[in-house]
Amino acid sequence: MTKTMEGQIALVTGAARGIGLATARLLAEEGARVFLSDINAATVQQAAEESDGLLRDWVVLDVADPESVNAAVRQVTDAAGKIDILVNNAGITDRSYPMWETPLPIFERMWATHFMGTVHCCQAVIPGMIERGYGRIINVASVAGKEGNAGSSAYSSAKAGVIGLTKSLGKELALTGVLINAVTPGIINTPLMSDATPEHIARLLAKIPMGRPGEAEEVGELVAWLASPQCSFSTGAVFDISGGRTTY
Ligand code: NAP
Repeated sequence: MTKTMEGQIALVTGAARGIGLATARLLAEEGARVFLSDINAATVQQAAEESDGLLRDWVVLDVADPESVNAAVRQVTDAAGKIDILVNNAGITDRSYPMWETPLPIFERMWATHFMGTVHCCQAVIPGMIERGYGRIINVASVAGKEGNAGSSAYSSAKAGVIGLTKSLGKELALTGVLINAVTPGIINTPLMSDATPEHIARLLAKIPMGRPGEAEEVGELVAWLASPQCSFSTGAVFDISGGRTTY
């Protein structure tokens, strides 16, 4: 049977581990040639080497730096000719602060990585997708961007920005063949969460009706569907994956 993504080229950011790596594996299992990308060469190379041959391609990029993003996209298109699928997944977290005590560099770092990182990658790949009349972009946002998490105003506001950007782009691109959607995970079992305090994690877990964190693969399955040709009538939309926490 033909795999649904045979012949397609995907770029996944923040793919050395967690949701990005789980997504990359699923896209590759569907036949896509996946370029892992991450800020740290050693970890992204290790992720590729430990994939039993499933993932062979990787590039280094800092999504917060437009030059670095453009260089990585050039590397991928020089090697593979095009990018059909972009997953904007790279992300960071920080300790919890009341908004009014949050050091400004934390606001700047959160916005530079989550919001501007998504802007940089979209600007680098969308023209090629429009030219070819096909593309799938998935922005990994967060329930924090819908609801706002107390103690995480920098993270929550940056993710809300990603959601707004997705909605605008969905309308701008609607007639081009390029579809863009966001996913909003709740708490997911990945290394990102190991930076959060136990109290912060307990507060987040208490909000989940299903009573457990999600797994990276569960988010990856949703992203992989949004990245597939089977996703054909959704754009500018926000897909919840939070164990029942957000129902809108
Ligand atoms: P993760 O395990 O920490 O993986 C994130 C990856 O992104 C890391 O490999 C990290 O590299 C990389 N990265 C960080 N800054 C980067 C940059 N500037 N350029 C390129 N790569 C960069 O995180 P995750 O939990 O899988 O999260 C993936 C996405 O889901 C993030 O956008 C996150 O905000 C979102 N999300 C996660 C949860 C959750 O509960 N886990 C919930 C909602 C949303 P280094 O570690 O080497 O810096």
